[in-house]
Parts: sequence; C-alpha cells; structure tokens
Amino acid sequence: MTARRLLLLGPPGAGKGTQAQRITEELGIPQISTGDMLRAAVQAGSEVGREAKGFMDAGELVPDRVVIGVAKDRLGQPDAREGFILDGFPRTSAQAQALDEMLPELGFALERCVAIRVDEEELVGRLLKRAEIEGRSDDNEESIRTRMGEYKAKTAPLISYYEAKGILVEVDGKGNVDEVAARIAAGLE
Ligand code: ADP
Repeated sequence: MTARRLLLLGPPGAGKGTQAQRITEELGIPQISTGDMLRAAVQAGSEVGREAKGFMDAGELVPDRVVIGVAKDRLGQPDAREGFILDGFPRTSAQAQALDEMLPELGFALERCVAIRVDEEELVGRLLKRAEIEGRSDDNEESIRTRMGEYKAKTAPLISYYEAKGILVEVDGKGNVDEVAARIAAGLE
C-alpha cells in the first residue's frame, strides 16, 4: 500500500513544494507547508506572523516554539486524519522530537521520510530564477545563502535521524518535475 503519512525533506529550491502539491493531488491528502502557513500569518498580520517575519526575510529559521505550535494546530485538523504530507517541517532536531511526541497523541505514526537531493550550485540558480518569477521577499542572494547554511547546519542532520528509524527514502532531485515525481512514487510503494 502507498504510504500516506509523509514528510518531505530537502534544501531550499529542491522542489519540495512542487512535489508536495503533486502528491496532494494524487493521494488526496493535504500538504502541510509551514513556509506557506507562516507567509499567510505574515500577510494576515497575526501574532505568529509578527514573530516570524524578520527571521523569514533574513532567511533564518523561525524559532522552534512558534513553528511547532503552527504545525501541531494544523496536524490536529480533521482533514489530516487520513494522511498528510509535511513540507518544510521539521527542520531542526527539536522540531523532529516535538513531531515524535505529537503524532502518537494524535493517533498516527510517520510512514516515510522522502529526502530530495540536489547539488548546491543548481539550487542557488533555481532559487534566483524563482525570485524573478514569484518575487518572494526572501529570494535574494543573501537570504538564499543564509537558508542554505541553515539547512546544512540544522536540517540535513535529520536525514540520518529518519534513516535510523528505517523510514527514509532518498530521491535524486535532478531532472524535470515528472521525473522526480516518478522516483518519489516508486519510493512510496
Ligand atoms: P524554502 O524551502 O524555499 O526555504 P519555505 O517556504 O519552506 O521555503 O520556508 C520559508 C521560510 O519560512 C524559511 O526560510 C524559514 O524562515 C521559515 N520556515 C518555514 N518552515 C520552518 C520551520 N519548520 N522551522 C523554522 N522556520 C521555518
């Protein structure tokens, strides 16, 4: 059976969001993107948004306490009961531990962690291109470099965390959207 409680891990620009959307359409499970939820909070001018904005613009990680609260609220909503795809959470070991605590409380277990691998020069190129198209306020070169540094220092170590749990699937992120999607689908069977 195809796994339905998933986590996507990968550096900024690896295509996590795009692939998460595909999986959402194919499996009918919600995409839970902390980046999208935080951007919505900034737009709405909520307390979470006010706390997050400065970190996001600089390309730094938003404090664990804030992000963990956002993720927990979202995972508790009814549409996540039959499955979900986490995109951009967890990003630190404290967040991974918080997730390990909240999932059993909600009655679920994570089935797969898909790690998308892409080399760094390709990533920076992709992000600068996206900056031109989407005009996201954190897609400038300095913020991109900071986000890469944050990824390497704090998020990449989670790959071995999920490998040790025996749920890691590593996928080559090179090529077009369909090629990567096919590799992910094969890894979820
Ligand atoms: P990208 O993967 O391109 O960096 P995201 O949309 O996932 O984009 O995240 C944008 C920003 O939102 C991050 O740089 C960070 O400031 C914040 N953010 C999103 N998810 C998290 C998280 N799990 N922990 C801390 N900060 C986060």
